[in-house]
Amino acid sequence: MARKFFVGGNFKMNGTLSSIKEIVDNLNKSELDSNVEVVISPPSLYLLPTREHLRKEIEVAAQNVYDKPNGAFTGEISVSQLKDSNITWTILGHSERRTILGESDEVVSTKTKYATDNGLGVIWCCGESLEEREAGNTISVITKQLDSLKAQNPDWSKIVIAYEPIWAIGTGKVATTQQAQDVHKAIRDWLKGVSDKVSDETRVLYGGSVNESNCGELSKQPDIDGFLVGGASLKPAFVKIINCHQ
Ligand code: PGA
Repeated sequence: MARKFFVGGNFKMNGTLSSIKEIVDNLNKSELDSNVEVVISPPSLYLLPTREHLRKEIEVAAQNVYDKPNGAFTGEISVSQLKDSNITWTILGHSERRTILGESDEVVSTKTKYATDNGLGVIWCCGESLEEREAGNTISVITKQLDSLKAQNPDWSKIVIAYEPIWAIGTGKVATTQQAQDVHKAIRDWLKGVSDKVSDETRVLYGGSVNESNCGELSKQPDIDGFLVGGASLKPAFVKIINCHQ
């Protein structure tokens, strides 16, 4: 089955009402490749105005979600609250949440299980640090993250995987196409252990300093099915990244 190309925009903790409105207006008026699924992820405060003004074909993602239906969890947002607001995706396991906010593999996997079981799409992130890459441990680190997810038996049809080497995020240091393709292929092979169908159908995105100049080559790799874009998703050039896949 051909996998639909997927481009996510992760705004992180950036933007204001007016700058996010500008981004939304720009996406609304741009010609976008209809063969590409586009999802943007503003900070939680701006999810609703984004959803309200954004063209309907583009979906909106939270940057995090909790794994309880409701209750005394100060500062958290639930899956049902997102769905109630027409927010159909969330990012989970971004390396900034893993390293800065201390989320373990288990926390990320449990939240992914809960979100997918309750019908939310998840952009599930994984990736190695520079130290881990230099020690030759890239594949084992990612395998450990994936094994933790598999142990929860999530709904794979709701998951898009984003491979984001930590050393490439926000650094301007993009992985070479070969480095990215090699890890994507390893993830594809690992997914065969879930099932051939999951391996064939799951989109594996690359993230880490993607911009309008490097996206074309990366998008040609057989196992790269799209991008998770940080910094460049805040700029008009995001449209070029969406349209880069030939
Ligand atoms: P970047 O971020 O494109 O700014 O490197 C990517 C991400 O963290 O998702």
